[in-house]
Amino acid sequence: MNAPLNEHFLSNLRSEALALPESGIVEVMNIGRNRQGLIPLWVGEGDVPTPAFICAAAQASLLAGETFYTYQRGIPELRSAIADYCTRIYGDFHGKPFSPKRFFVTIGGMHAIQTAVRMIAGSGDEILVPTPAWPNFAGALIAAGAKPVDVPMLLAARNGAAANWFLNIDDLQAAVTPATRGIIINSPSNPTGWTASREDLQQILDFARAHNIWIIADEIYGRIVYEGTRAPSFHDIMQPDDKIMFVQTLSKNWAMTGWRIGWLEAPPEMGQMIENLIQFSTSGVPVATQRAAIAALQQGEAFVEAQIAKLRGNRDLICEALNGSGVHFAKPAGAFYLFCRIDGAEDTRKLAVELIEQANLGVAPGSAFGTGAEAYIRICFARKPEDMIEVARRLRHWLAQRG
Ligand code: PMP
Repeated sequence: MNAPLNEHFLSNLRSEALALPESGIVEVMNIGRNRQGLIPLWVGEGDVPTPAFICAAAQASLLAGETFYTYQRGIPELRSAIADYCTRIYGDFHGKPFSPKRFFVTIGGMHAIQTAVRMIAGSGDEILVPTPAWPNFAGALIAAGAKPVDVPMLLAARNGAAANWFLNIDDLQAAVTPATRGIIINSPSNPTGWTASREDLQQILDFARAHNIWIIADEIYGRIVYEGTRAPSFHDIMQPDDKIMFVQTLSKNWAMTGWRIGWLEAPPEMGQMIENLIQFSTSGVPVATQRAAIAALQQGEAFVEAQIAKLRGNRDLICEALNGSGVHFAKPAGAFYLFCRIDGAEDTRKLAVELIEQANLGVAPGSAFGTGAEAYIRICFARKPEDMIEVARRLRHWLAQRG
C-alpha cells in the first residue's frame, strides 16, 4: 500500500518542493537526540534561556490584551527601536540616523531571507552562494524555484599567517551567467567563522555593482566577533542607492532562537512590496514578541557583552584543545562555530555518527554546508564553559583512540 499511496500524493506536486533536500543536520540529530549524557553541539544556539526582562515585556503585552492582528511591517515602536539600535551600532546612515522606514519585522532571520529571495529570484534565476554556507540559503532558493550556485571558498595559510578562509573574486566572476540575480554574503560566517574585512566587502560590492546584481547581506553574527566591537559591515561602505538588503535576527545576541523574530533592512522604496510579501505569508509578527524585541534592543547590552565574553573563552578553549591533534581549522574570527577537518576522515556524516556513538557528542556533518564543506564537521561552542571543558576532554580522548 505504501508505494502506490506515495505515488498518489507525491506525483503532481511542485518539483521545487520535491527537490528540497532533507537537512543534513536534522538527519544526524534524529540519530542521537535521545542519548543519555549527549552534549548537543549541532544547532546554532546556546543553553541560556532568554533573560527574564525580555520575557516580562512579552508577558505584560499579552496580559494587556495585545492579542490582535497588527502592522505587517512591524509595530512603529519596534521599527524605531531597530533604527536607533542600528544608528548606535553602525553610526549614521549617510549623514542621518537610520530611518525606521528601512526596517521590516519578520519571523526570524529565516523569514527575512525568504522575503529577500522572493523579491530577487524565481524560476530559472541563479544566486551565488560562497560555500561552506548555512544550508538554509540553498533551501530558500530551491523553494523559490531559483538555483543556488556554490562558489567554494578556500582554507589556506598564506604569507606565513594562521590558516584562514578566502573568497576569491575571480571565482565569483567565473560563476556569473546571464541568469545571475544576486549573491548571499554571510559574514561572520556560519559555519566557518570567516569574517570579511572592509577590503573584502569593498571587492564584493564592486563586483555586485559591475554586474548590477543584489547583495543579500546576512550579518546576523556581526556583533559576535573576537577582536573589535563588531564585524565590518556593508553599511560601512555602501551608497544609499546600492542594491543591498540586510538580514538580521534577535535569535543569537539575545538568546531568543525560539521566539522567531528578526528583521529585513531594505530601501524604503521597496516597502510596499515587502508589506505585501509579509501579508501573503505570515501576515505579521505577534505584538507580544515585538515588545520582547524592543526590551532586548533597548536594555540588552550587558547581556550581549557577557555572552560574547563567554563565547571568546569557549572558542579559545576548544581551539587550544584541538591544536596539534590532526584537526585542521581556521580559528574563527566571528560567530560561534568551529568548522574543522579531521585527518583521514572523508565521510563526515559517518564521522558525525561515530562522534555520537563513541564520544556522546552531537556535531553537524560538513556535507550539509555545500561544495567544499564535505570533509568538515561543525561544532557549536555556545554552551556553558563547564560543558565546553567536557567537550574538549571527550574530543581529545576520542581523537587519541582513533590514533
Ligand atoms: N542566518 C544565519 C547565518 C544563521 O546561522 C541563522 C540561524 N542559524 C539565521 C540566519 C536565521 O536565524 P533565525 O531564523 O533564528 O532568526
